[in-house]
Amino acid sequence: GLQGKTAVVTGSNSGIGLGIAQELAKAGANVVLNSFTDREEDHQLAERLGKEHGVKARYIKADLSRGDEARALVEQAGTCDVLVNNAGIQHVSPIDEFPVEKWDQIISIMLNSVFHTTAVALPMMRKAGWGRVINISSAHGLTASPYKSAYVSAKHGVVGMTKVVALETAEQPITANAICPGYVMTPLVEAQIPDTMEKYGMDRETVIREVMLERQPSKQFATVEQLGGVATFLCSDAAAQITGTTISVDGGWTAL
Ligand code: NAD
Repeated sequence: GLQGKTAVVTGSNSGIGLGIAQELAKAGANVVLNSFTDREEDHQLAERLGKEHGVKARYIKADLSRGDEARALVEQAGTCDVLVNNAGIQHVSPIDEFPVEKWDQIISIMLNSVFHTTAVALPMMRKAGWGRVINISSAHGLTASPYKSAYVSAKHGVVGMTKVVALETAEQPITANAICPGYVMTPLVEAQIPDTMEKYGMDRETVIREVMLERQPSKQFATVEQLGGVATFLCSDAAAQITGTTISVDGGWTAL
C-alpha cells in the first residue's frame, strides 16, 4: 500500500485527476488536490475524499499557467512522494488561426508546469528515498490530429520530459513514466456530446461510436478508475523497473 506517502495530483477537482487521486487514496496515500479555483466545494471535495478513505487530503489552489504558482503548489504540499502531472485544457483551431494567447496558455499549463512541479518535487523524493513521477500525456503524445497543434506539441513534450526525468533519477529509487490515454469518459467529454449530436444530426450512440471513438478500435471509453488503477500500479514494487516509458490506455488507438 501507499500508507504514509503523499501524492500531489495537479488538476484534480474533476475528471482523470480526481479519479487518480481517488484510487491513490484507496491505496492508502495522503492526497493533495489542486485546480486554479478556490471554492468552498473544492475544499469539501478533499475533505470527503479524506474521510472516505481514511487518509489526509487537502486542496491547494494553484494556477498552473503560472510557473511561480506551480512551484508553490509542491512547496506548500511540503512533501511529495508521488507527483501526478495531469492538469490540461484543449483548444482546436488551424495553426494559422490559432490564438497566440491560447498557444501560450496550453504550453504553460501542460508542459511548463510539468517542468516546475518536477523541479521542486525531485529533491523531496531524493530526500525521502523513494518517488514516482506520473505524467498524464495522451494518445496525442504519440500521434497527431489536425487543429490540435498546441495540445499535440505539449503532450509530445511531456513524453520527452518524462524520459529525461527517468534518466536523471535512474540510479535512485524514483521512476518517471507517462500514461497516454485515448478517449476517457470525463465531464469534459460528456459535455461535448449534445453539441456534436446537433452539429451532425446524430443520436447519442452514433456520436460516441462514429465521431468520438472513431480512432479507438475498442469502441469503448477508458474510465477514470482504470487510469487511477494504472497510476497505482506504477507506484507498486512490480513497477520499480518501469521508467522513462509510456503506457497507452487507448483501446488500441496507437496500434492502428
Ligand atoms: P478535466 O477538464 O475534467 O480536468 C482537467 C483538470 O485540470 C481540471 O481539474 C481543471 O480544473 C484543471 N486545470 C485546468 N486549467 C488549470 C490551471 N490553469 N491550473 C490548474 N489546474 C487547471 O479533463 P480531463 O479529461 O480529466 O483531463 C485531464 C488530463 O488528461 C489532461 O491533461 C488531458 O489532456 C488528459 N487527457 C484526457 C483525455 C480524455 O479523453 N478525457 C484523453 C487523453 C488525455
